[in-house]
Amino acid sequence: MTNTKPLTILIDMDGVLCDYTGAHLREVAIRYPHLTQYIEDARLSWRSEERFPAEYRDDIEAIALEEGFFEHLEPIEGALDAVRALANDGHDVRICTAPKKIHTYCVPEKYNWVKKHLGQEFVEKMIMTRDKTLTQGDLLIDDKPEITGAGIPRWEHIVFDQPYNKDVPNRRIDWGTYREVLGL
Ligand SMILES: [Mg+2]
Repeated sequence: MTNTKPLTILIDMDGVLCDYTGAHLREVAIRYPHLTQYIEDARLSWRSEERFPAEYRDDIEAIALEEGFFEHLEPIEGALDAVRALANDGHDVRICTAPKKIHTYCVPEKYNWVKKHLGQEFVEKMIMTRDKTLTQGDLLIDDKPEITGAGIPRWEHIVFDQPYNKDVPNRRIDWGTYREVLGL
């Protein structure tokens, strides 16, 4: 426990704890080698599939709905240590993640990922919702450029630094800088 007041910290999964875009675009490159010219540009876009020719977009988006996609995502460097460290410092760390609309594999695999990489303790603290504005907390660490929904958020949206959110003016962290930026 540090001398910092304990915070409730909501932490997103895709693009914050696990490398969704890296895995997705790697798979695109394998399946559609003739589209590799679009990949670097796609990395800069929140909706990366929109950077590919229209006739491929649905199939590219659907890669993330396949069995095994979420379960096999790689952790982002430093993420797992940071989650454990924040919890060890006495903060209430909740993993707050939005499932895909087509949830068949996504939902159980997100739970399995957390169990595998962080353990049962964090499985029991997961919040799965497609409207994060209705959740409560002090901070929401999320890579999504703009988080909207039915509620008025009580948390501060801390942007997790990614190529597709560089224009967002919020406080910005990565797993190398979070302690300094957040004053923890
Ligand atoms: Mg995300």
